Amino acid sequence: MLRSRPSGGPDGCRSWSPNGCPSGRPSRSLTAEPAPAPGVDVTSSAAKSQDSYDVIIVGSGAGGGMAAFQLGVAGLKVLVLEAGRNYDPTRETPMFKLPREAPLRGAGSREKPFGFYDATVDGGWEVPGEPYTTAPGSSFLWWRSRMLGGRTNHWGRISLRMGEYDFKPKTRDGLGADWPLSYEDLAPYYDKTEMLIGVYGGDDDLENTPRSSPGVLMPAPEPRAVERLVHKHATGLGIPTIPAHLAIMTQRQDADRLPRRLFPNNPLAQRVLAESMRSRQACFYATPCGWGCSIKANFQSTTVLLPPAVATGNVSVITDAMVREVSVGPDGKATGVSYIDKRTRQDRHVSARVVVLAASAAETARILLNSKSSRNPNGVSNSSGLVGKYLMDTVGAGLGGRIPALEGLPPHNNDGASGMHLYMPWWGYKDQMSGKLDFARGYHIEFGGGRGMPGNGSFNFLENLTEGSYGTKFKEAARRHYGTYVWFDGRGEMIPNEDSFCEIDPDTVDQWGIPVLRFHWKWSDHELKQAVHMQKTFAEIIRSMGGTPSSEPQTDGNRAIARGGQIIHEVGTCRMGSDPRTSVLNEYCQSWDVKNLFVTDGAPFVSNADKNPTLSILALAWRTTDYILEQLRTREIG
Ligand SMILES: Cc1cc2nc3c(=O)[nH]c(=O)nc-3n(C[C@H](O)[C@H](O)[C@H](O)COP(=O)(O)OP(=O)(O)OC[C@H]3O[C@@H](n4cnc5c(N)ncnc54)[C@H](O)[C@@H]3O)c2cc1C
Ligand code: SF4
Repeated sequence: MLRSRPSGGPDGCRSWSPNGCPSGRPSRSLTAEPAPAPGVDVTSSAAKSQDSYDVIIVGSGAGGGMAAFQLGVAGLKVLVLEAGRNYDPTRETPMFKLPREAPLRGAGSREKPFGFYDATVDGGWEVPGEPYTTAPGSSFLWWRSRMLGGRTNHWGRISLRMGEYDFKPKTRDGLGADWPLSYEDLAPYYDKTEMLIGVYGGDDDLENTPRSSPGVLMPAPEPRAVERLVHKHATGLGIPTIPAHLAIMTQRQDADRLPRRLFPNNPLAQRVLAESMRSRQACFYATPCGWGCSIKANFQSTTVLLPPAVATGNVSVITDAMVREVSVGPDGKATGVSYIDKRTRQDRHVSARVVVLAASAAETARILLNSKSSRNPNGVSNSSGLVGKYLMDTVGAGLGGRIPALEGLPPHNNDGASGMHLYMPWWGYKDQMSGKLDFARGYHIEFGGGRGMPGNGSFNFLENLTEGSYGTKFKEAARRHYGTYVWFDGRGEMIPNEDSFCEIDPDTVDQWGIPVLRFHWKWSDHELKQAVHMQKTFAEIIRSMGGTPSSEPQTDGNRAIARGGQIIHEVGTCRMGSDPRTSVLNEYCQSWDVKNLFVTDGAPFVSNADKNPTLSILALAWRTTDYILEQLRTREIG
């Protein structure tokens, strides 16, 4: 908001902001009709479920929602098990509320860390009764959204493709590991995913920043005043500023054409998708996405994937179902999963021909590690011993500043999509290759500022500037200085290391009696130096705009960098590869050990490029479901 941003909040959302998300500007004057939407018809876990399915999917967020939709439209009988409660943004979102209507004026609290109206109805940095631990000397934060749709209900919607270099990092600089697939393998799925969920953006084609195919993206919104100013000065420093890519619809989807293009020979998919697309409206640029979107203009699993999945008649969803373990038969194949019905606290087992884990990277590792038996004493799919290993997050550092040139601006419209219209992709590839930088891999910059809806504490900074004005003087100062702050957040690549992993804590169980995770965490020098470089760059941009950074840029990497997990991009833990001895999954996210077991969340990631992970999770999940269908068709599995 209007004061300096401590480094390290999740992207697209400002955990320290009383309003939750950065450009959250709820407006009372807007009365958009919520689109007619059935929501998701969810079976309570107390109800008796069918005994056996074609596929069981654990988790209903990005990876689980995509798998459910794809397998449902393909005609398979699918059961989605979700640990959280049912949630329907079309009915539950407080998107038209004002911060002042909320307790503490919407400020964050322990129960609601991102503000009172944040869409996370259950969960956060802490989940009551479901702890996790950290090893001595390690610091790690784990955000969990225990609700239908998981973290897609309030993510920042920043949807960047990984580029050609990102899939082969080791080949480029000898660090980490390469993915067993290349950008070309995933590119068609990026295109299809962007069309399916609706992504705005530009068609710039910079180094390792791929463009989408023509006609795939929606037009990007016009840059705001503050974004234009940053663009001008960053360009002077040789830093490119281009249209951001966000999973927000700037126009209605073409419900007549797109479903046929995406599913040419599938009338069921075409029907449910066309219906779903017709129920979605374009963004009206005035409310905070992090609170949820009742008009379905942004991507959430709960509005975009699960309703059409259930509409196929093939997909059932059971909420309040906490999966404990994957069961494996004498032939080594997965037979289903055991879960706890949270309402009755009873143990249940459901069977399937295929099991898909999409409980989020760390939770998927937890399920696999907890699936112990005499046959699998170290857990399921863990013959390599790598389940839980190579956990990664995104490198985060931030700095804000005050720009006198923005003082006393005439009133202007600062609204827009909830999030950036422009961003800065990493520009230092050449310097890095020629040895001019002291760290490997890069970062992109997310930034913003301007006249967002004020919230709790927004004008605290005036005390410093005016030495404590009040009354008319205070109002004049507020008018003059309102909107003069800008903030910059770096989002950089972390190289996987042996010291960052999760394992089962031998001494702690959660309220369901399930052993919990213990996290080990260590940044390497590359990440620490990268965070320092971020701080220096942000200060340079702020100064080039004639402004003053809110604090001196950090030169100590440990102070500059956000805590592990704090950017909420945890991936890895079940990495894919081409060798079963050095990876858990193959390139189709299929377990090397258990052929009918797949993972479609962030766990298969081999590296964590600076590109926020969710678009890649979605695209990989789609690719994986195509492979599952092919494997079932040829009777390789099932
Ligand atoms: C505030 C915020 C901002 C973010 N911004 C961005 C962004 O701008 N761009 C980006 O790319 N990413 C962003 N992210 C990250 C993004 O939300 C995640 O990458 C993405 O949601 C991960 O998808 P997933 O399917 O792995 O997990 P989730 O979406 O978290 O879904 C996992 C689901 O599994 C359920 N589950 C967990 N354990 C069990 C169990 N044992 N049994 C049954 N169900 C279980 C959970 O309740 C949850 O619903 C952000 C996250 C947050 C919180
Ligand atoms: S997509 Fe648009 S209308 Fe929906 S919550 Fe976000 S900013 Fe508001």
